[in-house]
Amino acid sequence: MLRFYNTLTKKIEAFKSLKKRTVGMYTCGPTVYQHSHLGNLRTYIFQDLVKRTLLIMEYRVKQVINITDVGHLTSDADTGEDKIEQEARKKNKSAHTIARFYEQEFKKDIKALNILQPDAFPRASEHIKEQITLIKQLQQKGYTYKTNDGIYFNTRTFKKYGILAGMNVKGVKAGARVSIKDKKSINDFALWKFSPSLESGRKRQMEWKSPWGTGFPGWHIECSAMSMKYLGDSFDIHIGGIDHVPIHHTNEIAQSEAATGKQFVRYWLHPNLLMLKEKNKIRMGKSKGNAVLLKDLTAYGYSPLDFRYLTLTVHWRSPLLFHLEALDAARAARLGLIAYLKEAPAGKAQHIHKQKIQSCLENNLHTPKALAHIWKLIHRNEATKDLLLWADHVFGLSLYKESKKTLRIPKKIRELAKERESLRKRKQWKEADKIRSVIEKMGWSLRDTKKGYHIRAGSITIENVKRFHKI
Ligand code: AMP
Ligand code: ZN
Repeated sequence: MLRFYNTLTKKIEAFKSLKKRTVGMYTCGPTVYQHSHLGNLRTYIFQDLVKRTLLIMEYRVKQVINITDVGHLTSDADTGEDKIEQEARKKNKSAHTIARFYEQEFKKDIKALNILQPDAFPRASEHIKEQITLIKQLQQKGYTYKTNDGIYFNTRTFKKYGILAGMNVKGVKAGARVSIKDKKSINDFALWKFSPSLESGRKRQMEWKSPWGTGFPGWHIECSAMSMKYLGDSFDIHIGGIDHVPIHHTNEIAQSEAATGKQFVRYWLHPNLLMLKEKNKIRMGKSKGNAVLLKDLTAYGYSPLDFRYLTLTVHWRSPLLFHLEALDAARAARLGLIAYLKEAPAGKAQHIHKQKIQSCLENNLHTPKALAHIWKLIHRNEATKDLLLWADHVFGLSLYKESKKTLRIPKKIRELAKERESLRKRKQWKEADKIRSVIEKMGWSLRDTKKGYHIRAGSITIENVKRFHKI
């Protein structure tokens, strides 16, 4: 039985799908004005893990990831410029060009990370009609009011407002353009924003006619409109980074449940953030100027799957502190798995081992424990090929495909090996050994022959793995 932590109830709960054996799942997708960074990608890998766990449990999964290509403003207080329009202005390109470009980049990234394709990738800009219909419903039921710059949701009229974040929703700070004076309460949020007047000098590229005037939808309404369109008024699982709890998801619940009178989502899963160690631990963010991208890692010779492996080594409810040594260790372990697979004993996976791994996953999606169990079996030479390949349905590391590849040895490793060789020629054994251990830490090994040295993958030592997985 699958159990996981539900932000809504603040408990670890047993999962029960609304429909028998079919699960509806919605993930808040990217705002396509920049590349997704490793933090965003951690969240997408996590939601893939949830889906893969459901799949090995023989559920059918109907999954939607949206594309936010309009309406997400630079401030969470519904003020500022549309992030995509702003980027278009800076780059002197159309908002459409910017949005489609970053959407493609996002799709490339998730493919490289072995994230399974959702059933639909709906774009906010192509669901304006649905969003207007939903706002009309809210208006008819008396949940909205008008200000100078848009139609707002009146949070005081929705009794359960804020339960996702705990009763203590402090709300966002009123921004510069919409002051609290215009809004009835600080938590109220825009459902529809009017286009800025021409006198302001900022003509929008993306705008639509509506019963309230020309403008564009607020950010939150798109997720309510699109999730309910594809998955129904009530569905099972909704996922997004933990930063979405106090505003975006809180508002999604308010507007969806106010409109339908039904429970919107049963299980809310919020993976914790990826952090960087600078002076203190700080969150990686697109607008924080500290974004590390997947292509930055591949430029250094890492595989996207090294990053995937790294995310699996930390429980989803804990922050993931990203640094290169951890990524090196993840790479070493991943290469170690591949090297082991090539020589692993044949034979069917034992039921008891499968069960143990599955139970780690069913118990609040504990990937670090599941990986540790695999490594324990590897060290006892008890992990069969069949078991590894079965487990890989959930880990998503493409172990089989990768084991057939001729490994590309990263430039850095080749350079280190060369340097070591020249040290050896000068009989500087100590320095040469130091370099060898650096190479080994990064998951490669050297074999010296009469004709020279060979670089091989997967020098992972039991001690390293033990330390890494805290066995
Ligand atoms: P965005 O493209 O900014 O709308 O964010 C896409 C997803 O990434 C959302 O689910 C966010 O909650 C999530 N996210 C943003 N920053 C981080 C981070 N540093 N670590 C993990 N997830 C994040
Ligand atoms: Zn969303």
